[in-house]
Amino acid sequence: MPELPEAEIVRRNLEANCLGKSIAEVVVKDDRILDNIDAAFLTKSLKGRRFTSAIRYGKRIFLKSEDLQVENKQVKDERAENQQINNHQSKDLWLTTHLGMTGWIDCLNIPDGERPIRDSPYEPRYTRLLIIFDHSGMAYTDPRLFGRLGLTESPDEFIKQRRLGPDALKMDFDEFSKGLRRKTASIKTVLLDQGFIAGLGNLYTDEVLFQAGINPQAKSYAVNDTRSSRLFQSIQEVLNTAISSGSDFNLLPESYLLPHRHRNGRCPKDGSILEVIKVNGRTTYFCPEHQG
Ligand SMILES: [Zn+2]
Repeated sequence: MPELPEAEIVRRNLEANCLGKSIAEVVVKDDRILDNIDAAFLTKSLKGRRFTSAIRYGKRIFLKSEDLQVENKQVKDERAENQQINNHQSKDLWLTTHLGMTGWIDCLNIPDGERPIRDSPYEPRYTRLLIIFDHSGMAYTDPRLFGRLGLTESPDEFIKQRRLGPDALKMDFDEFSKGLRRKTASIKTVLLDQGFIAGLGNLYTDEVLFQAGINPQAKSYAVNDTRSSRLFQSIQEVLNTAISSGSDFNLLPESYLLPHRHRNGRCPKDGSILEVIKVNGRTTYFCPEHQG
């Protein structure tokens, strides 16, 4: 289930492989993944443009697209003190993506001269959206269709409308600890609330609480300053470690919960059998010994 580290890994991959290439074709294979736009509009809006940057906020990725031809034309037109170019066309347009439960974006490398086309052998399974560049492409795959893709002219506006809290890697500690004190729900529920902190999902929430030695059922307001400071540090540490391990749980440090997060798994810190409970309907693993 993609959380902040997975979204960051996808973003880096997009940045390395999909920027600056002219969009030749947009193929929506399943419009259930579209967020308030139709397939024809998405296709018309992106065709002929290029992605020029990829940013991440929480679990979401925003791909900026620009119409470089219009920009070049604009320069020429300005020189010639000529007519204004079509304003709508020159606007920045961002492709918004939320990977949902099983979404991913693959960058496709296509041998010279071959173009990835609909149902070609280069197209991954469960592709829902295919964007084709001149000699490469990108595929949004999503077996369970919980992800959403859309368009916005402003990521800031988009984030405001969705009432997303600060990004987990950019949140200010004061805001974090004051926020925790105001909440009556369990600490796990609060960390999962994207309106409070954006980026943590079920798995990394268990990991950060495990690292900070806090019981997931503890009331948020009862987490004292020492503990909230430890929790804040754990969030930064765990997320950055997960990103640098490429989100491969086998490459995480020995002392991490995630590789042991299964029935009868043992705490790597003290050897206790991990407990499994539900917190707000979400399966939760914790150590009864050091998170007691
Ligand atoms: Zn333990």
